[in-house]
Amino acid sequence: MAVTQMGYNSIANSLKCPKCHHDMEKVTYEDITIDRCINCGGLWFDGDEADRLKRVPGSEVVDTGDPVKGRNYDSCADINCPHCGKVMEKSSDWKQVHIWYEICRDHGIFMDAGEFSDFKHETLFDWFRALIKGKRES
Ligand SMILES: [Zn+2]
Ligand SMILES: [Zn+2]
Repeated sequence: MAVTQMGYNSIANSLKCPKCHHDMEKVTYEDITIDRCINCGGLWFDGDEADRLKRVPGSEVVDTGDPVKGRNYDSCADINCPHCGKVMEKSSDWKQVHIWYEICRDHGIFMDAGEFSDFKHETLFDWFRALIKGKRES
């Protein structure tokens, strides 16, 4: 078992990374707690946590993994939901088709290292773009 400074309890109920199968550590930002893989830096978001965290200023600091390493894991074949073990669907944001993440419709989504920062950044950009476009059309 991997030794971390997180203590026994958090190891006991920690998730296993769906991509590289290392332990994931709990990372809390504001009042939102997500899971981050201690090896590949991938992030697991329960339910709508990715959307909620995206709206919190400065929350991209949770995405500390190396995006280069994260991209290597992007080519990973099927991965299974860390909660229910079902094969997760590959999905992308309709506005950000370059970002591919894995989704379990019952439990949440997994992003590789660097993808959350990208997701967050692009969404702000897209939001501004939509705002400008909206103004022009009205
Ligand atoms: Zn991992
Ligand atoms: Zn699941």
